[in-house]
Amino acid sequence: MNGDAIIGLENVEKTYGFGNNAFRVLKNISLSVNAGEIVSVVGPSGAGKSTLMNIIGCLDGFESGRLAVGGRDVTNHSVETLSDFRNRHIGFIFQLHNLLPEFTAVENVMMPLLIRRVKKSEARERAMRLLRRFNIEDRAHHKPAEMSGGECQRAAVARAIVGDPDIILADEPTGSLDRANSQMLVETLFEIGKERDATIVIVTHDS
Ligand code: ADP
Repeated sequence: MNGDAIIGLENVEKTYGFGNNAFRVLKNISLSVNAGEIVSVVGPSGAGKSTLMNIIGCLDGFESGRLAVGGRDVTNHSVETLSDFRNRHIGFIFQLHNLLPEFTAVENVMMPLLIRRVKKSEARERAMRLLRRFNIEDRAHHKPAEMSGGECQRAAVARAIVGDPDIILADEPTGSLDRANSQMLVETLFEIGKERDATIVIVTHDS
């Protein structure tokens, strides 16, 4: 693996199912991403892009090969034991915002900080700062069901970056948005990534 890589995969193989139903999605994947790079993963539906993102994000395991994230070899760690590591180093943005429906926008954005025991007042302040940055401050005390798709997705990006992750993984983050909202989301994401020197891996079919 490249010594400077913040993400390194070496001959990773992933199969879903067993026996006659076994379906190998990732075959011998090697990939190296340096800190601060912005990388996009492009390919047809079903190619295994989400599978790859879930593996890099330590949300899913794999059968063989090696994986290093943030300078740490995580190959032999279980998904469960990596939850604290994920919380501190990785921000995940999904195609559908995945905000928790029973919490308001600001509570959703505070969540990663509360999990790592940041004081509530500080978490709220950091979350509000991002909601302002994303122009959805006036939605802060609304629940996702009372917000538009674009507003929810901006809140989801805020939640992914509030903890200052080294790595931002975005799996078709604009998949459910119209053109104007998509552009705004991606521009802000890249801007923030640059400001914070974060590495961004983005799955997209939209150049
Ligand atoms: P992409 O993101 O490129 O569309 P995915 O990684 O979602 O592709 O899926 C790759 C292939 O693996 C697809 O054929 C999909 O049906 C299959 N697949 C994804 N998740 C599972 C799962 N949990 N169990 C079985 N097959 C799966």
